[in-house]
Amino acid sequence: VKAWYFEAAELKRALLFGLNLLQERIGRLNRDAQTDPLTGLGNRRSLEFSLSLLEAEGRDFSVIVMDVDHFKRINDGFGHDVGDQVLRRLAELMRRCCREGDVLCRTGGEEFLILLPGAPLEIASTVAQRLRTCVQDSAIAPVGAVTVSLGVAQWQASGDEQPATTLSKADRALYAAKRAGRNQVSVSQADN
Ligand code: GH3
Ligand code: MG
Ligand code: MG
Repeated sequence: VKAWYFEAAELKRALLFGLNLLQERIGRLNRDAQTDPLTGLGNRRSLEFSLSLLEAEGRDFSVIVMDVDHFKRINDGFGHDVGDQVLRRLAELMRRCCREGDVLCRTGGEEFLILLPGAPLEIASTVAQRLRTCVQDSAIAPVGAVTVSLGVAQWQASGDEQPATTLSKADRALYAAKRAGRNQVSVSQADN
């Protein structure tokens, strides 16, 4: 009986160890599936996930979209690797300008997005301005000064707007900032 009991306990231990390994691996796969490998920020999948959570919770949020100004010139002048370095550095500056609970993503080549749960438009605009100034003042070797344009919009749970519409509004604000001369923040007002 004792020998059998010992073997059963060993078997259980081995099974639990295998299960833990499996769970760890699934956790890592899930994290990887939601992470942009270049910057370590979230990717589109993590953005979709966060948006659906916020919508389900009925939690107001603001969104900031950011696009690097004349990024093509950086790639053309210094090469793609330096371009990538700039993107990584920008991700660091984003982390520095945001608070815990904000959702930071790289949504495309040189386009970034921040979800600010619970933040009203005024706060999000302040964060966007802070980020814009921070980028402008942080020379990125060997490129030097880099600037970004940003668009801001807000989603309110009490309204009937789809979160995707709010993101489009932020995009439109971003293009307004580009048209207005770049290196600026444009805010989409609630009634646009
Ligand atoms: P604008 O101020 O109007 O935004 O000009 P821009 O040159 O930044 O904009 P455009 O969209 O014309 O160029 C973006 C460039 O980004 C084009 C593409 O070669 C480059 N790009 C896209 N993804 C990556 C990437 O992952 N790494 C690097 N280094 N470059 C990328
Ligand atoms: Mg772009
Ligand atoms: Mg650009």
